[in-house]
Amino acid sequence: MVVADNIHKHYGRLHVLRGVDLEVRRGEVCCVIGPSGSGKSTFLRCVNHLEKISAGRLWVNGQLMGYREKNGRLYELRESEVAAQRRDIGMVFQRFNLFPHMSVLANVTEAPVQVKRMPRAEAREIAMGLLERVGLADKAGAYPEQLSGGQQQRVAIARALAMNPSLMLFDEPTSALDPELVGEVLDVMRDLAEGGMTMIVVTHEMGFAREVGDTLVFMDGGVVVERGAPRDVLDSPQHERTRAFLSKVL
Ligand code: ATP
Ligand code: MG
Repeated sequence: MVVADNIHKHYGRLHVLRGVDLEVRRGEVCCVIGPSGSGKSTFLRCVNHLEKISAGRLWVNGQLMGYREKNGRLYELRESEVAAQRRDIGMVFQRFNLFPHMSVLANVTEAPVQVKRMPRAEAREIAMGLLERVGLADKAGAYPEQLSGGQQQRVAIARALAMNPSLMLFDEPTSALDPELVGEVLDVMRDLAEGGMTMIVVTHEMGFAREVGDTLVFMDGGVVVERGAPRDVLDSPQHERTRAFLSKVL
């Protein structure tokens, strides 16, 4: 589903990703942990080609992201082609990024109507189903500022799901939330995972990683240091750097 083959990313002289190799199978929940600055967000942004990789190859659903390969050479895709690839990938950020001037329902119907040209009535029906699923059907008419952070984040998840993605990327979706609101968002994510969604989740929630994750990846210094079943990585890390990190966060 996702294959990252020796991905590098430079920002000017800063070499942020230094050969990331990772495979995420269909239906897998892959949790990513690692110290601040290790390249976790950069990696996620490379997966949906919000950032261009400097070297390596990245496939999502068998498609090379951002490029077409011909006779061993890479050719950049047009913006519209990249947009089409990206449509299949939902992303939820630490900050909720809802459209503040739109109701909850309008936030969720916006992309299907504008991007997919879905008839408004159909988009509404799907949106209401998704809001039901994240427990917010009664907030359809509310505006983002009237919602708690946890509710806003659940709307953000519903909004991403409205495009019917085959892959969901989460970048620390609960780190900006008050502690008592974290659980409701994790519950929605757990539900999504149980429904078979392929997910890459950058998180500090070790409990979630342990219970919901199929694999746990530890990143440090722009590489995948360790990858395995969450229980194995958390309880018996194989690398000194993983041990050092876990001793600080657990
Ligand atoms: P955190 O846990 O704090 O979110 P992270 O693992 O997500 O950290 P990244 O945000 O991927 O780390 O950043 C990795 C490195 O790349 C950092 O040194 C950061 O300063 C740098 N970086 C990230 N984005 C950019 C950018 N747009 N331009 C220049 N440098 C960047
Ligand atoms: Mg980050």
